[in-house]
Amino acid sequence: MSNNVYDVIVVGAGPAGLMAAKVAGENGLSVALLERKDSITAIQRSCQTMVAIEDEYYFGERMYFDDKQRRLVFPVNNFSVPYSGPYKNFYAWHIYTPDGKHCIKLGNYEKNKEGGSKTRLSAFYNKHELLKGLFKDVQESGVRVFSGTNVIAHRREGDVNQIATAEGGIFRGVFTIAADGINSRLMRILNLNRERMFYGTLKGAGYYMTGVRPPYPESINYPLVFHKSTQYPIMLWVGLSPYGEDEYWVYAGGPAHPEIDYKEVIDHAIQDSPFSHWFADATVVRRHAHVANIWSPTPTPFKDNVLIVGDAGWTVEAECTGSMMSGRKAANAISEAIREGKLNREGVRKYIDWWQKSFPDFMDYKEFLALLSGGLLGEDAVNYLYKLVTGILPC
Ligand SMILES: Cc1cc2nc3c(=O)[nH]c(=O)nc-3n(C[C@H](O)[C@H](O)[C@H](O)COP(=O)(O)OP(=O)(O)OC[C@H]3O[C@@H](n4cnc5c(N)ncnc54)[C@H](O)[C@@H]3O)c2cc1C
Repeated sequence: MSNNVYDVIVVGAGPAGLMAAKVAGENGLSVALLERKDSITAIQRSCQTMVAIEDEYYFGERMYFDDKQRRLVFPVNNFSVPYSGPYKNFYAWHIYTPDGKHCIKLGNYEKNKEGGSKTRLSAFYNKHELLKGLFKDVQESGVRVFSGTNVIAHRREGDVNQIATAEGGIFRGVFTIAADGINSRLMRILNLNRERMFYGTLKGAGYYMTGVRPPYPESINYPLVFHKSTQYPIMLWVGLSPYGEDEYWVYAGGPAHPEIDYKEVIDHAIQDSPFSHWFADATVVRRHAHVANIWSPTPTPFKDNVLIVGDAGWTVEAECTGSMMSGRKAANAISEAIREGKLNREGVRKYIDWWQKSFPDFMDYKEFLALLSGGLLGEDAVNYLYKLVTGILPC
């Protein structure tokens, strides 16, 4: 740091920001990491985490969890991340019709279960533990960490970025990494959302519960339900939680609509639905919620020496996979730019090219939105059509 100017200021300490800060610190840059929450590793929204489905490439990567080495491995990008927390394998994905009478089976539950970790679909892991591992590395790499620090303003002054916080602090940096998540304030301040299409707002509520008894416990149990008055399709999700023994994560989410209260949706599913018997002996341990504004991916992850990483510039979820990869790539690009004295867009060109190739161009974001399109069919049609799908499909 020269004249109190950091090489890079990272805003947000989720998977993207922690990875960016860790790599920049390890590369010898002076780094300030600013995080709004008081606790860096506590997860306050409904966001139980799982390893990305291991059979598919995701943003050009095919991450998997090595349960012997206890690492998340990114073979294409040639790095791995320690994960020493608990995990739970799951073996199939079952989509239930709204009347509860039929389910479409993706993956052969019994057969996959026999093979254990080798034939699982994937594993649920604990995001708090993931952040703990990353944060330990951040602390060991000389990064200055400022928790309880809410960034409210950002402007370019000559060759320096100046960041103001709600607590009255001012931070100055050559580069900024915007890792402030799905409802990014930096994207708004930089006017970068203007280049994006706004699709709408998603909301969700989640209960962590014990004593839940779905028919295929070690799978994703996914009843497709419709909201009573609006007839909007709702994603109901019952999956294992890696946060406790015999614990499940029960989640309901979908479009934000004044008539839809997602807590009521879960309560209804538990108390008075074709799925209520799964919850006869269940107890709620804790509750979470979340809200996400959905924009198309940002075409250019760069403005005024700010690099955009993770959910801040993505559509729905960059997922922990995409977030950690982009955080790492951005930090490496900045390291090279500083080494070559190119403190501008040209210096970080590799990152911009990678983002464009891996995010907006690689995956059609409309695929994500299609997930919500059950509403185009309606409850009766779904009950009828889904029953035509018998046999076990690949997941
Ligand atoms: C319900 C739900 C389920 C999910 N399930 C999965 C899953 O199974 N697997 C998976 O891989 N991913 C999952 N995700 C997505 C995953 O959580 C995100 O893609 C990932 O956390 C994005 O990482 P990020 O670092 O970009 O942003 P975030 O994790 O959102 O981190 C952003 C950080 O920035 C901080 N921040 C925000 N504004 C400011 C500010 N103004 N000043 C300072 N700090 C600020 C926030 O407090 C936060 O710590 C899920 C998400 C949700 C909502």
